Amino acid sequence: MKRRITLIPGDGIGPEVALATQRCVEATGISVEWETVHAGSDIMEKKGTPLPEEVLESVRRNKIAIKGPVTTPVGTGFRSVNVALRKELDLYACLRPCKGYPGVRSRYEGVDLIIVRENTEDLYAGIEFERGAKETKELVEKILALNPKAKFNPDPAISIKPISKKASERIVRFAFETALKNHRKKVTAVHKANIMKCTDGLFLETAREVARGYEGRIQFEDRIVDNMCMQLVQRPGDYDVLVLPNLYGDILSDLCAGLVGGLGVAPGANIGDDCALFEATHGSAPKYKGLNKANPTAMILSGVLMLRYLGEEKAADRLEGAVAKVIREGRQVTYDLKPDKNDPTAVGTSQMADAIIAAMNGQS
Ligand code: NAD
Repeated sequence: MKRRITLIPGDGIGPEVALATQRCVEATGISVEWETVHAGSDIMEKKGTPLPEEVLESVRRNKIAIKGPVTTPVGTGFRSVNVALRKELDLYACLRPCKGYPGVRSRYEGVDLIIVRENTEDLYAGIEFERGAKETKELVEKILALNPKAKFNPDPAISIKPISKKASERIVRFAFETALKNHRKKVTAVHKANIMKCTDGLFLETAREVARGYEGRIQFEDRIVDNMCMQLVQRPGDYDVLVLPNLYGDILSDLCAGLVGGLGVAPGANIGDDCALFEATHGSAPKYKGLNKANPTAMILSGVLMLRYLGEEKAADRLEGAVAKVIREGRQVTYDLKPDKNDPTAVGTSQMADAIIAAMNGQS
């Protein structure tokens, strides 16, 4: 059956790593039809928005998409294409496997963690009040009226952190189901419930409730986020699947990407009940735009996750095996995977994709 997949090349290094991924996915032999739509800074100039409606329509229609990174403008204006896509499509679960591949330089060996990050609420909900705005002053007055113990320094800016039972329950359930599907043993819920008793407290209480339904099949434990950071750096092998609210999930995903060799090799997926969107953890690295220099591995491994999501396990195993082989051999890899970043034998983005395709076809 021909699969129709939405392809969003993105901007910066996005189009280069997206093309490399497209070629590698096609080379697995699965039958795909790409529907290419554009989001990001390049289309912003033409259409006046970095996220044209046709992008959302295409993902809703095809239910599956793969995306290159998109630059987020700093300061005022459109907040983030990435956050908007996750919200509009209700992609509530962010899945970020962090697996060490031999050949990638890292301080650790054998790390194989799965991070499950809640994607829709928390301090990322975008409910913010600017310093000095009339609404901010009204909000401060309202809070003081409701809670006389509250204290503010003069003229604060305020971000709101909503955490709900509904969102906590579905993300923790997603983490347990991911653990079952991937033959994992343990889920660890990460929080700061000792300080944020209402919000993180609700997340933890809900996680404990959901965990009861998996007793005897998957172990459960919880960790306070600061302690978790230290433990991951000291003994990452003690952990398996981590489930976190949005902000801690964002920070710990990068920490764990660092444990396995960095952003160049960290794939990701945003998954909802209806649609799924696959993308690397890294951003658009604008300084490498158009130089055929960026490492395509993270996006290609996001393609592997997409193939598994589609039930194409054989194709996924072939592609992941080929990526692992090319990295292990260490010859036809981009500059960041060489022991010396200035190594003249480093290859470009498209040549690394060629090597992965050749490895899949048994030609190397
Ligand atoms: P970045 O991930 O683009 O770059 C961080 C560092 O990692 C840079 O030194 C870069 O050179 C290196 N790097 C990243 N990807 C690489 C690759 N594939 N190969 C080799 N080196 C790579 O992070 P940033 O600089 O903080 O962000 C740039 C822009 O991307 C920002 O606008 C940010 O908001 C956006 N961003 C988008 C996404 C997304 O689309 N999902 C995710 C993160 C950041």
